Amino acid sequence: METAEIQRRFLKFFESNGHTVVPSAPLPAFEDPNLLFVPAGMVPFVPYFLGQATPDWNRATSVQKCIRTPDIDEVGKTSRHGTFFQMNGNFSFGDYFKEQAIRFAWDLTTGSLESGGLGLDGDKIWATVYLDDDEAIDIWHKQIGLPLDRIVRRGQADNMWSMGIPGPCGPCSELYYDRGPDYGPEGGPEVDEDRYLEFWNLVFMQNIRGGGPAKEGYEITGDLPKKNIDTGMGMERMAALLQGVDNMYETDQVRPIIDKASELTGKRYGVSTSHTASESHPDDIRFRVIGDHVRSSLMLIGDGVVPSNEGRGYVLRRLMRRAIRAVRLLGYDKPAMPELLPVAMERMSAAYPELRTDFERISSYAYGEEEAFLKTLKHGTTILDTAVTETKSEGGKTLSGSKAFELHDTYGFPIDLTLEMAEEQGLSVDQEGFRQLMAEQRQRAKADAAARKTGHADLSAYWQLLQEQGPTDWKAYETLDTESRVIGLLKDGQPIPLAKAGDIVEVVLDRTPFYAESGGQHADAGKLVGPSLFAEVLDVQRPVKKLVVHKVRVLEGELVIDDKVEASVDPEWRLGARQAHSGTHVVHAALREVLGPTALQSGSFNRPGYLRLDFSWRAKLSDETKSEIEEVSNRAVRDDLPVAVQYMTLPEAKDFGAVALFGETYDETVRVVEIGGPWSRELCGGTHVSRSAQIGPLVLTGESSVGSGQRRVEAATGMEAYKYLARERDLVTQIAEEIGAQRGDVLERVRAILQRTKDAERELANLQAKAVSGRAAEFAAAAKQVGAVKVAAVQAPEGTKGGDVRGLAMQIRGHLPEDQPGVAAVVATAGGKASIVVAANKAAQAQHVSAQALVKAALSGKGGGNDEVAQGGGVPADQAAQLLAAVTGAITA
Ligand code: ATP
Ligand code: MG
Repeated sequence: METAEIQRRFLKFFESNGHTVVPSAPLPAFEDPNLLFVPAGMVPFVPYFLGQATPDWNRATSVQKCIRTPDIDEVGKTSRHGTFFQMNGNFSFGDYFKEQAIRFAWDLTTGSLESGGLGLDGDKIWATVYLDDDEAIDIWHKQIGLPLDRIVRRGQADNMWSMGIPGPCGPCSELYYDRGPDYGPEGGPEVDEDRYLEFWNLVFMQNIRGGGPAKEGYEITGDLPKKNIDTGMGMERMAALLQGVDNMYETDQVRPIIDKASELTGKRYGVSTSHTASESHPDDIRFRVIGDHVRSSLMLIGDGVVPSNEGRGYVLRRLMRRAIRAVRLLGYDKPAMPELLPVAMERMSAAYPELRTDFERISSYAYGEEEAFLKTLKHGTTILDTAVTETKSEGGKTLSGSKAFELHDTYGFPIDLTLEMAEEQGLSVDQEGFRQLMAEQRQRAKADAAARKTGHADLSAYWQLLQEQGPTDWKAYETLDTESRVIGLLKDGQPIPLAKAGDIVEVVLDRTPFYAESGGQHADAGKLVGPSLFAEVLDVQRPVKKLVVHKVRVLEGELVIDDKVEASVDPEWRLGARQAHSGTHVVHAALREVLGPTALQSGSFNRPGYLRLDFSWRAKLSDETKSEIEEVSNRAVRDDLPVAVQYMTLPEAKDFGAVALFGETYDETVRVVEIGGPWSRELCGGTHVSRSAQIGPLVLTGESSVGSGQRRVEAATGMEAYKYLARERDLVTQIAEEIGAQRGDVLERVRAILQRTKDAERELANLQAKAVSGRAAEFAAAAKQVGAVKVAAVQAPEGTKGGDVRGLAMQIRGHLPEDQPGVAAVVATAGGKASIVVAANKAAQAQHVSAQALVKAALSGKGGGNDEVAQGGGVPADQAAQLLAAVTGAITA
């Protein structure tokens, strides 16, 4: 049965049992600062489970796209772990519970194919339950008829479900399918999880858990307002069972990628492997990694993730690099993505049609990333080779941990690659040292993350406030001042009773005019003022949806719950913010006008006076293009276009041509900001000017690369743009004064000065050369007799250039008597290194005195040339005299 058919049957079964079909949320978990990606079907429903929001239905079903980064190392080594997979779920919000949930799962799984079921053999199914969940055992045994020896009790780690953080939790019951003795030993799920394949987890969600360890040993702190059901059936695992294949990578959505990789590399998949994944040949694991990671990359880029060095983008980068590397290890070293990604798209676009329509954008990121990585590999390989040679020449057998770390950190060179390539050249790697450096780096990253504004690991205090006090009455679009009441006071995410002068605390107000940072717009600045209170607002965030939290520094007086305060946004600041945000839209529209519609924004940030915008584009922008973008932007300002805000549904907004940006989630009603009608239409919650002329001047101040296929433009807006231009003007004025030119003549004068400097330098060099060669006769006259040979050993004046050293040696030789063996040896020092040139005359050569042999003698075998002239160098400058001594010594010998 094809995966698409499993999906169809699943949704149909639950729909006909009263469930509303809810579409998958995007893979990036935008709503939850604790998560990078959605790892389970229930995540989009969390507010309903917590009772923070009420859904329009009390039964829902979905097929949710999931990413589980912790499973990355399992891929291909077990039969059942993908980084990307689809979780089919049915959910009850205070409606049915345990008994009905078990019944549904059983009926769909074992129901006959004709009746719309999945047709699995019920005699091969095992169930696990939480330790003391006798009720679940009774349901399985008495109502479903599952024999007691196929029901297993398991502890908190396996059968108490939570998201690993404070929040909802509850006992669960998992369904396993016994695939038979070919897949491993008997004895049930506790003995072998590959033979007994978990395919469905039923969570009886009824409790709230506290902090503590993620999986086991945390405390249950209370009950949820209602009992809920959350289930997750792994669609890939079900497909593997129904398609009679050994693992999830061989199912219809992934296997074709493996087959393509096999075609490219000429290696066959699966020939040396039995049914059990754990005993696989390394090549087969590589094939599975390719299948899994290529598909995951497709899905991630499809949902707006772009390769980068942090967060979500880094996960994508890592997946792509692992896949590319696996392809190379299988023996194919050309770009593989253009071959593999279309196969993945063909398989996945039946369920996700946007993958096809958006394929140009998706593939351009993927191909660009591969190109960049292949370059990295090439570059890194050179660095590695040099390091290996150095290590060997010093007699070492181990490549240092710091080199391995540098390769990893600077060149993105994976450690396993370093290990392997070093080994090929007979070196081991100081892995301990490498790990130490990695650990230090991670520590730094952690400190970094902790220093960031949002991302409180524990959001429960905010949730509680929201539950008790309701959403913030948010007036940012209407006013800059409100009379407000303090309804929450927190420090480090925990409630506190009061704040005194000097404290930095978080304040929640019943009503606020402050814009919380979002959509790339920086938070408002301003103040809270009470009868004796004065507090400065430092930051404004929305840690949970609909709750605005102000970070303030109390400067005077005290803050206590229930205080009345006047909340005021700094009007200067807000004007600057509106200019910058509208300016961002203008620059975005200008980019698309000049470069075309594929120059789509992938990220932005703006605060008063400054904006930056990242967009998909492969090449560096030329100076002309930059000027053009700037001109189009300023023309739009001059045209004084009207700025309009409208509310509509998301599909309406898309029909309307509004640009929806990745990285944002949108409610059912969205806000569309237009500048000049269709010229710029974007979904946006930011604050804007009312006509484009209010943006004021707009100056591009920078253009740079931010990762492959991504460029960034930066601009100054409003007064800052004016100040920027004024500074440039003043600079020109100063330069003009300094060189005594009229402003209009500055460039010409600077060019003339540069030319004169160059000429003077050349003249000076000539004079120096002449001065040196003028002394050739003097040096020759001072030559000493060494045995039968006249030797002029000369240390050239400091600063003599390389070419002049050779010239000097030749000239000195010319001044030596022709009828007698003669040798000129000249050393010179420059840049901390010494070099030597030796020239021998005919008579010397006839006596077998060779210039080359003398240089080699001085430089222990190095250097080049012939019997007549030879040179070499590279030794430390303080050995210059020794070089001459060595030459003289060699002549005596
Ligand atoms: P396992 O112990 O096998 O890793 P799990 O306990 O982590 O599974 P759950 O969190 O209960 O799995 O997820 C519900 C269902 O989602 C599982 O029963 C399984 O069918 C599926 N599933 C979980 N993780 C993956 C994965 N990495 N790849 C494919 N399917 C998965
Ligand atoms: Mg797991």
